[in-house]
Amino acid sequence: MAVLQEPIKEALEIKNYIDGEWVASQGEVKDVVNPATGKVIARVPISTKDEIDEAVEAAKEAFPYWRRTPPLARARCLFRLKGLLEENFEEISRIQTMEHGKTIDESRGETRRGIENVEVATGIPSLMMGQNLEDIAAGIDEYLIRQPLGVFGIISPFNFPFMIGLWFAPYAIATGNCVVLKPSSEDPLCQTRIVELAEEAGIPPGVWNLVHGGRTVVSGMLDHPDIKGICFVGSTPVGRDVIYKRCGETGKRVIAQCGAKNFALVMPDADIERTMAACMTSFYGNTGQRCLANANLVVVGEGLSGQELDEFYEKVVGAFVAAASRISIGYGLNEAVQMGPLRDKGKKERVLRYIEKGIEEGARLRLDGREVEIIGDLPDTCFVGPTVFEDVPLDMTIAQEEIFGPVANMMKAGSLDEAIEMIHSNPFGNAASIFTASGKWAREFQYRTECGNIGVNIGVAAPMAFFPFSGMKDSFFGTLHGQGQEAVRFFTESKVVIQRWF
Ligand code: NAD
Repeated sequence: MAVLQEPIKEALEIKNYIDGEWVASQGEVKDVVNPATGKVIARVPISTKDEIDEAVEAAKEAFPYWRRTPPLARARCLFRLKGLLEENFEEISRIQTMEHGKTIDESRGETRRGIENVEVATGIPSLMMGQNLEDIAAGIDEYLIRQPLGVFGIISPFNFPFMIGLWFAPYAIATGNCVVLKPSSEDPLCQTRIVELAEEAGIPPGVWNLVHGGRTVVSGMLDHPDIKGICFVGSTPVGRDVIYKRCGETGKRVIAQCGAKNFALVMPDADIERTMAACMTSFYGNTGQRCLANANLVVVGEGLSGQELDEFYEKVVGAFVAAASRISIGYGLNEAVQMGPLRDKGKKERVLRYIEKGIEEGARLRLDGREVEIIGDLPDTCFVGPTVFEDVPLDMTIAQEEIFGPVANMMKAGSLDEAIEMIHSNPFGNAASIFTASGKWAREFQYRTECGNIGVNIGVAAPMAFFPFSGMKDSFFGTLHGQGQEAVRFFTESKVVIQRWF
């Protein structure tokens, strides 16, 4: 199959978007490299403290006008944005593949999921409605209204360059707030394209600002007294020790969606063929760089003898390895490709270090992704193939830590209880899946498992835009979650009015 046309022909010079103007940063500049081809596709600024301050100031100034704009008028801007995103759907998806490395189908899926948040946020006149009750005492009525707070900071990770900013920005803006968004400097192009379209959709200057960069920009947001809240998605050390901690100190609202180490349980009655299809997407989709990716597969011998469990384990692992070996690897703009590269060389080296660690600690390497066959003439800088480890005890480093790459660990448990205990022994609580035909087992699993997103015969337990993207333990810090009704609550302050007429 042919490689699809690249929408970026020569390296783009990326600017910040502050107060409705595209402005060049005074900061240093970093190359954005297509991880499949090795070509520089853009240069992104690492903005300065003054630039983040300017963006916050612009957002603060835009707020009084924007909050008085009727919710329906704000929703109309988002309707126009939704239309423009649809018109540019394919271009945006190809940009994602170029800047991140994921396959074109994965990018199209991400574009769809991202747009859905804009669609949900257009329902703001209903979503933001308050409550009222007559006669709470003789002749006295009471009602609750939701009001925007002001300026919010949004900090996104590299692994979903289009969607994650949209988990927050549309709701923040629909509720009447203004935002300053900092995308990952590793793949900043999609968020830049979104803001270009937001400008075309008529979102006024200062409402949706974009500042590229790294720690300086993040610190500038965390310390700024005019930022009322922060939405962060990224790794646990940054989310917990930098973002959540500092927001606590400065009294800001915070959503910090963090890292993961997800388990998939395969029960004896699971449909193996369909389970394996779901597992391939879950373990290897997005090249394993997904917070909802499964990483540890537990074959559960509920009701089986020891020998039956061994046989069932071999059947599952054999089918898993066979399916993983068939995954085609290459440039995501080639529609025949099923798995792209890791985002960059550093991420590949990190995954290789984990593979070596697994071998060192005694796990058996059943499929070695270091020996990777790539479709097409591409530099082998960022590619790692599907990797499978067997006989992985729970306390091994590769079973405990987030690898964020295409590495699967195969394990065994004698019962569902034991498998749930295994999940609970891990510090993360982002997602977990069970594959079974039994309603009883599925219910037991969803009831007891301490994870925010549960899949029953679903490998990637991704909530739709109208449900909150949840998380527990080391995977989430904050109170309310992003997306849908919870995001609306996060971005608004409730005010209660009690009134009596003399
Ligand atoms: P990261 O933590 O390295 O970076 C996230 C953001 O924080 C980026 O914008 C980055 O520029 C900034 N940043 C990085 N280090 C910083 C520091 N020391 N101080 C201040 N800011 C800093 O994460 P990443 O590598 O971009 O993304 C991968 C991680 O995100 C994984 O752990 C993954 O599980 C997690 N993730 C979680 C979810 C979720 O919803 N729970 C979704 C997607 C990704």
